[in-house]
Amino acid sequence: MSGTLAIAGLGPGSEAMITPQVRAALDAATDVLGYIPYVARVAPRPGLVLHPSDNRVERERAADALDLAAQGRRVVLVSSGDPGVFAMAAAVFEVLESGPQAWDDVAIEVLPGITAMLAAAARAGAPLGHDFCAINLSDNLKPWDMIARRLRLAAEADFAMALYNPRSRARPDGLARALELLRTCCGPQRPTLFARAVSTPQEDLRIVSLAQAVPEMADMRTVVIVGSSQTRIVARAAGPLLYTPRSAGGVLA
Ligand code: SAH
Repeated sequence: MSGTLAIAGLGPGSEAMITPQVRAALDAATDVLGYIPYVARVAPRPGLVLHPSDNRVERERAADALDLAAQGRRVVLVSSGDPGVFAMAAAVFEVLESGPQAWDDVAIEVLPGITAMLAAAARAGAPLGHDFCAINLSDNLKPWDMIARRLRLAAEADFAMALYNPRSRARPDGLARALELLRTCCGPQRPTLFARAVSTPQEDLRIVSLAQAVPEMADMRTVVIVGSSQTRIVARAAGPLLYTPRSAGGVLA
């Protein structure tokens, strides 16, 4: 008897940003798997087995989730934000492609969540109001040269950029290199948002220019948004607003 696997996004941190669809899947689950701090966001209850696991064991975690579902359990695999953005959904499909036949009958569903860049953008205004891209600055799974090339080309194409995984203890220098490259390509005045722990009690937002941006403004709970050439900072009594107008290239709104 095959069970189900829901790969679910818990959003950026706040309870209020968990979708009703994800809430319903968690309420119906027999097993919840995920990275330790994310599983800690799921309340224990009778009939629910929590399986927290360490970072960097994504493939093993994905295989465990598929095994449990193949045994008939109702499994939810949790990610922060959206599970399809630098997270567990792709990890599941990576192991599924070469997995055992027992996984064939598992019903798999991906349940979206609010990804960090959207939560951060909403708190600051609308910096992603025109064309943008998202780049993962971690070089765990891709070479640094590829990251640098993507940053350069994104700057050339004048995208606003959301930079995920900007900094960790294992990679203290990448963000400094990325900021240096962006200062060269975009100039020192480009508006930049450092958004930390958005929607949690530790939330901290800073809007600076690229010239003022230093790596110490980010940690592993920070998403960085670098504006396009059109992105503007508007001073307001309640604090600065960051937004990118909907038109570009001389077309009038
Ligand atoms: N699947 C997640 C991203 C996982 S990668 C999502 O869709 O949001 C982890 C990175 O996400 C962190 O290094 C940070 O850049 C970003 N992030 C996750 N939660 C965040 C939050 N509450 N505030 C700011 N950035 C966050």
